[in-house]
Amino acid sequence: MISDNNSFTYPVMEHFYTIQGEGAYTGCAAYFIRLGGCDVGCVWCDVKESWDAAAHPQMSVSDLVSLVTSTPAKICVITGGEPAMYDLNPLISQLQSVSVRVHIETSGAYEIQGKPDWICLSPKKFKFPIKEALVRANEYKAVVFHKSDIEWALSYVSDLPSSCIKYLQPEWSKSELVTPLIIDFVKSNPDWRISLQTHKFLNIP
Ligand code: SF4
Repeated sequence: MISDNNSFTYPVMEHFYTIQGEGAYTGCAAYFIRLGGCDVGCVWCDVKESWDAAAHPQMSVSDLVSLVTSTPAKICVITGGEPAMYDLNPLISQLQSVSVRVHIETSGAYEIQGKPDWICLSPKKFKFPIKEALVRANEYKAVVFHKSDIEWALSYVSDLPSSCIKYLQPEWSKSELVTPLIIDFVKSNPDWRISLQTHKFLNIP
């Protein structure tokens, strides 16, 4: 029921309208909703304040949809935290009902509930991705913190759909060290692409 969907709530750490900086939709305007709550525990996480869901206010689907539709945004990115810890059906379906595309950014550690228009799966060594999530990925974006991360990322490729776009992305603080390795890898494996955190170069959220 629509009314039930509208009153469903999520812990929201922050929300903002900006430019997607990473991956397949780099350069596209998008409204970001960052849900609180994550138990993946990446050592290099740049949003550690998102981990504790209880530290963030609950917001209803109707309030979130109103925020998105108060902008010209045609894409809403639900990120985290780990958004797949929650039943995303109510938020996804209400956004789609007002013609907003919904993109999810997940580690793949949980089964994704709901039918987003795009799933970006960024696997993490700290809590492995599950097959049920991998088989639904539109985009696979492995963050490279150490050179061994490239080989580790390859170990999940057989579970990805053939249409999935595969990216290696240098972890920001290790960029100088790992970017040359990524460049060499992509030149040797042209079915992979490089993703950069362009929003950090642009100094936008
Ligand atoms: S999955 Fe994302 S939010 Fe969670 S610890 Fe890793 S980088 Fe941080």
